[in-house]
Formats: sequence, C-alpha cells, structure tokens
Amino acid sequence: MGRGRLFILSGPSGVGKGTLRERALDDIEGLVYSISCTTRRSRPGERDGVEYRFISRPDFEERVKQGRFLEYAHVHDAFYGTLKEDVERELDAGHDVLLEIDVQGALQVRQRMPDAVSIFVAPPSLEELERRLRNRGTEGGEELRLRLKNAAEELQRAGEYDHVVVNDNLDEASLTLRKIILDYRLEHEVG
Ligand code: ADP
Ligand code: 5GP
Repeated sequence: MGRGRLFILSGPSGVGKGTLRERALDDIEGLVYSISCTTRRSRPGERDGVEYRFISRPDFEERVKQGRFLEYAHVHDAFYGTLKEDVERELDAGHDVLLEIDVQGALQVRQRMPDAVSIFVAPPSLEELERRLRNRGTEGGEELRLRLKNAAEELQRAGEYDHVVVNDNLDEASLTLRKIILDYRLEHEVG
C-alpha cells in the first residue's frame, strides 16, 4: 500500500469545518483525523484525546522546543499544534489524513509538505458566519468579536488554497469536499 495523502481544512471559526470534517470522516473510508494539541480550555462536552489533547502552556512549549510539531500557531487566544509523529504514522500506514487547522498553520504545512492538498471553507457571507457563531453559542462577548475580526482577515487568504468550498448548503458542501478527496485517490490509482 502506498503512503497516504495529507488534506488540510482551513477557514474561519464558525464556518462549519468541524461539521464538514465529521461528515467526511463518517463517509470516507481510510480517512483519519489528526487530533491537535491545544492550550485552550475544553468546552462542555469536549473530551481530552477526542476533540483535542488539552495540554498546559509549559507542556506545549516543551513540545515546540523538542521540534515535535509539524506546525503550530497562536489562534484567537491559545496555542494549537499538530504533532509530526501522529501525521507520519498514519501516512505511513497508507491512510489519508485530515488536518483542521488555521491559516497560519496551513501555510507552514504547505511549505514543509508541498504534496499536501489545501482546502479553504468559506461562508456564504460574513453575516451568515456571525449567525452561525452566535447560534453555536460556545463563545460570547470579546471571544466572539475576536473570532469575527480574525474571520475577515482569514477570508482574504482563500485564494492561496488549492480548493475553496463554500459552505452554504451543508449537504452540497459535504459532497464537494468528498469529491475533492476521492478525486485525488482516483488520480493516484490512474497515475
Ligand atoms: P467551525 O468548526 O468551522 O468553527 P462548526 O462546524 O462548529 O464550525 O459550525 C458552526 C455552527 O454552524 C454549528 O452550530 C453548525 O451546526 C452550523 N453549521 C455548519 N454548517 C452549516 C450550514 N451549511 N448551514 C447552517 N449552519 C451550519
Ligand atoms: P476552536 O478553538 O474553535 O476549536 O479552534 C479555533 C481555531 O484553531 C480553528 O480555526 C481551528 O481550525 C484552529 N486549529 C485547531 N487545531 C489546530 C492546529 O493543530 N493547528 C493550528 N494551526 N490551528 C488549529
């Protein structure tokens, strides 16, 4: 079996990356998710080692020093990073790996692994993005404002990605994402 391929999913907070990612993992056999490390606090319902590995700031810094991150970034108000060893293990096992990371991390991965396929998830509009974030209800006040401010900047970066998926209708966006991933597999089999 050949090595797997790395897919990067990026886009502003609240655009639906987590929702699309879950669907992709349910729908596509052989696709695995790389669980990131973060220094942010867990939200109600989040489990350590499932949504994220929740680690302390000193632990995070130690891993940075040891060079264990494929990429890491300070996003909103916490650190987030992808462990190299997790990604390499899955790619070596022949699995395709999905990362859900911010635009700074995506840039680092594209530089280090030029074969990675980058996908930007865009909202139909900033108004709709704000509506989704408010409805999700996981952040309020300053945190919500920070995410919306960052979103406007992140949207400027969509053109740097290999693919842009507009998450307007969820079913359509899921299908588009699925097709992007499966088309790369087909290309690999043919080529
Ligand atoms: P992200 O992971 O990008 O921060 P989420 O997946 O948590 O975003 O989605 C943010 C909110 O928007 C959630 O409440 C989710 O159910 C909702 N949502 C996701 N996709 C759509 C869509 N296409 N239309 C309407 N609401 C959506
Ligand atoms: P949240 O706190 O809402 O789960 O995620 C906030 C942001 O951090 C999202 O844009 C998400 O994609 C990003 N993120 C999650 N994990 C990583 C990671 O490992 N690296 C980077 N660079 N960003 C991440």
